[in-house]
Amino acid sequence: MDTSLDYLKGIGPNRAQLLREELGLHTFYDLLNFFPNRYVDRTQFHALDRLPKNNAEIQLKGKLTAIRNISQKRGSRLVAHLEDDSGSIELVWFRGQKWIQEQLIIDKEYVVFGRLNWYGNKVSMPHPELTPKEAFEPRAHLGLHPIYPTTEKLIQRGVSQKVIKQAQRQLHETISGRFTEPLPKDLIQSIRLIDKDEAYQSIHFPKDHYQLTSAQLRLKFEELFFIQLQLLKKKQLRQQQIKGFSFEKVGRVFNTFYKQALPFELTNAQKKVLKEIRHDLGTGIQMNRLLQGDVGSGKTIIALMSMLIGIDNGYQACLMAPTEILAQQHFQSLSSLLEEFDVSIALLTGTTKKGERAQIHETLQSGDLQILVGTHAVLEEKVQFANLGLAIIDEQHRFGVAQRARLWKKNKLPPHVLVMTATPIPRTLAMSLYGDLDISTLDELPPGRKTIKTVWRRDTNRLKVFQFLKEEINKGRQVYVVYPLIEESEKLDYKDLMDGYESMQRSFPAPEYQISIVHGRMKPEAKEFEMQRFQKKETQLLIATTVIEVGVNIPNASVMLIESAERFGLSQLHQLRGRVGRGNAQSYCVLMSGNKLSAESRTRLDTMVRTHDGFEIAEVDLRLRGPGDLMGTQQSGALQLKIANLVKDQEVLFLARNWAESIVNKDPDLQWPEHQSLKTTYVEMTKNKALWKYIS
Ligand code: ADP
Ligand code: MG
Repeated sequence: MDTSLDYLKGIGPNRAQLLREELGLHTFYDLLNFFPNRYVDRTQFHALDRLPKNNAEIQLKGKLTAIRNISQKRGSRLVAHLEDDSGSIELVWFRGQKWIQEQLIIDKEYVVFGRLNWYGNKVSMPHPELTPKEAFEPRAHLGLHPIYPTTEKLIQRGVSQKVIKQAQRQLHETISGRFTEPLPKDLIQSIRLIDKDEAYQSIHFPKDHYQLTSAQLRLKFEELFFIQLQLLKKKQLRQQQIKGFSFEKVGRVFNTFYKQALPFELTNAQKKVLKEIRHDLGTGIQMNRLLQGDVGSGKTIIALMSMLIGIDNGYQACLMAPTEILAQQHFQSLSSLLEEFDVSIALLTGTTKKGERAQIHETLQSGDLQILVGTHAVLEEKVQFANLGLAIIDEQHRFGVAQRARLWKKNKLPPHVLVMTATPIPRTLAMSLYGDLDISTLDELPPGRKTIKTVWRRDTNRLKVFQFLKEEINKGRQVYVVYPLIEESEKLDYKDLMDGYESMQRSFPAPEYQISIVHGRMKPEAKEFEMQRFQKKETQLLIATTVIEVGVNIPNASVMLIESAERFGLSQLHQLRGRVGRGNAQSYCVLMSGNKLSAESRTRLDTMVRTHDGFEIAEVDLRLRGPGDLMGTQQSGALQLKIANLVKDQEVLFLARNWAESIVNKDPDLQWPEHQSLKTTYVEMTKNKALWKYIS
């Protein structure tokens, strides 16, 4: 399997080098696992009166009844009629007519292959491939023909589909029958998987659809199964080996807070999650938990109460947020919740003054400071804790793994880690990316929230929309207006924003209306100043780029107007919408878009209008964008799947997860005789990788 493709008969060093460079195929193993991305279906002949009503590639047979050349101003074409017992179709050529015409023979039987072209109710087949009936060999031609992914360069250099197919054929003759079966027998039998040898054979050379589907199922299952096995083993190892602080008691501060200071009754979801966290904190094993909950589901209070448990046990806690504004807000809300308590809390960001900074460093090290809220600044070398027991990271997707690892290194024992995210992650993704983490979900919003009314308006309705904004403002409400800012076209976007600002100033003239503006090119102090004006209700409109996406909490703002909404991603739109609906008033989200939209943009905007459920939105997003894009630049093997697809193969994923779980539960060290082959494969797969990352 490790043999270089240089040594495969029919390939040789030159082609092997091309395959390496263009497709990343180095070894026999790589080629074997290089799967077709589609198959041309030549298993059957279609009757001419029952052609599929789409532009499918299909196979026909019949007799040529007429051939003629048609000349028109726009060019000439060659048209031949193919007839079978049931009907006829036009075969058409726009190039090479003369040569083709010489080959074609009237009244002769042909096998024809090509793509249908429907034009209204009329169908033709342009540039088909014709084989005289007597030259057609069913054994070679009938069947499903694999098409492999390829590149321009490979085609130019003569590494055609045919060459790849021959190489696969050659490889099979060399190695078939030599696979050991990694999956346990009872598994294979109970879900009726075909064996590995047969699967490889059928994925490259399927005889029919049944064989192909069985091969796909087998290979998808195996791929997902081993990912799950690795994740579960990783989790198991962590639980066995990484000791954490044990927060044994739930003490005075927590209890007093719960009884006296909690401003509202916790939702059932919050109670459930808090219980899960309390349990983790008491086990003596490092907690590694992902808390996902939609915007407004009340994650902050969970963070605070978890920190109080740490404090009761004599530890420090730290809460890290991705932006200055958000860190500040956390600091403010935690400080006010803790007003009556003897708990010390400080804020550390990039703009913290020198003197204050020095004092924070000192009190952290002496242990006097109990809670530190901050941005990335918290990760700096100089920031040393006396005994950091719990680290909470808000808005998880903005921090990289490496950054989190730095936080972890601040201690002898790793602190417990709670990662909070407001972007719900579809179950399949969560399972594949964070399958080794524990996941808590806040799947319930606090009571009494009014649903935000969401509408989608075209630019042509702008006047009416502005009229509506004025009515809201006259009721004493405030309005967000958000413009897209996407890096590649930053200059243009900036201009859009400024143009928008000017036109808003005309439509909402001072002194009656006051407008704040916040964007990425402003100094932090200026941003802060403008945000403050809005917060203090000195301004009624806040024009911003997506700076406000995360976490801003201004309950009096009741309208979120999103300009060029078609340019935003679904989860971004959902996050933005979550900025309103925080007070008692009915709130609105207005999505403004142009008139010409792609199908995908329409789906996004329709979805926003239709639902508020963050999980449902995340599922749509996953279907539209695919897992890689959805999770941003995050590198993860689990997302670079060879054959399985996290959107289409959910059932297979759940099946694989269940089996992996049941095996690891029954035989944690894979010691049973029937698991030996499985273990070998697993060890092989993990050999060259770092076994696990402590903080995922
Ligand atoms: P997020 O999950 O988006 O961080 P927050 O923690 O900011 O949500 O909470 C949103 C709002 O809901 C806050 O004003 C908070 O005080 C309030 N809240 C949280 N939990 C409850 C609850 N159980 N009952 C009523 N209001 C709550
Ligand atoms: Mg929050």
